[in-house]
Amino acid sequence: MAQSHRPEPGQRLASGTRSPEPITWPDGKTAAGCLTFDMDAEAAVLTADISSVSRMTPMSHQSYGPLVGVPRILALLERHDLEATFFVPGYSAQRYPEVVRSIAEAGHEIAHHSYFHENTVGMDEKTEAAMLDLGLQALWDVAGVRPDGYRAPMWEMNFHTPRLLAERGFLYDSSLMDSDHPYLLAVGETSSADTLVEIPVSWGLDDWEQYAFLPDLIGSGVIESPTKALEMWTLELEAMHQLGAAFVLCCHPFLSGRPGRAAALEHLVERMKSLPGLWITTVGNVARHTASLNLSPRTCPQPILPADAPWVPRPPG
Ligand SMILES: [Zn+2]
Repeated sequence: MAQSHRPEPGQRLASGTRSPEPITWPDGKTAAGCLTFDMDAEAAVLTADISSVSRMTPMSHQSYGPLVGVPRILALLERHDLEATFFVPGYSAQRYPEVVRSIAEAGHEIAHHSYFHENTVGMDEKTEAAMLDLGLQALWDVAGVRPDGYRAPMWEMNFHTPRLLAERGFLYDSSLMDSDHPYLLAVGETSSADTLVEIPVSWGLDDWEQYAFLPDLIGSGVIESPTKALEMWTLELEAMHQLGAAFVLCCHPFLSGRPGRAAALEHLVERMKSLPGLWITTVGNVARHTASLNLSPRTCPQPILPADAPWVPRPPG
């Protein structure tokens, strides 16, 4: 349950291997459900293979997201009177400014999702900071938005990323996978009063794994049935609801915006609405609620490789 203790600056934090605990929810609510949409558009594919810029068909597959998927998803959300969170790379915002403004005007949350959907694996702090700033500037220029939240491209966080986010005033991240429940993430290695709210995710709740077929480029390479995806996500939704956790679904408009998939998503939305006490809201609202609970921060410590063990492989560099 919610803790009132907060470590003093400089105090060594409790073990980062401490299990995250359930949190309390607003009155009348017992769990949360967030619909999130990553409007990657072309950026995710261009980053994977920049030569794809000359491949008209894959580019058109990606532009389907903002051009067709987003309007269909906005209509779905309006039918059910729901607010969602859209994570948008800065480059995609600049390419589709009217679409991003239409999302904001419909009352949905716009959050940061890198600049160019860049591959952050192994990226140094300075470069990552510059890319974060480019993304911030783009969302500001296009929609006048200063986002509260961040999601790393491909959910790939570096151990230095949370501090870069806290330094830029972000309230939350939604990229890590070590909990069913939102929690406070300590920013820094061993001690800090600075925190970031973490709203955890998992690959099992991402439509990328189900539908992202892009020949020779990127993605899961499969096209699963929406019935299968709906079955998986419904089982997870019901179990997360029982746990009092935060169910965070990640969909991409270029994937789940297709008609049959959007129909399956609408069935899921109807199931969400039928669950008693499920707070269907934005990730930002869940983060603000979590921040209000005065939880004790926890760490997500980097594994320490055993010393003097020559058979253990070493990372490059
Ligand atoms: Zn993405």
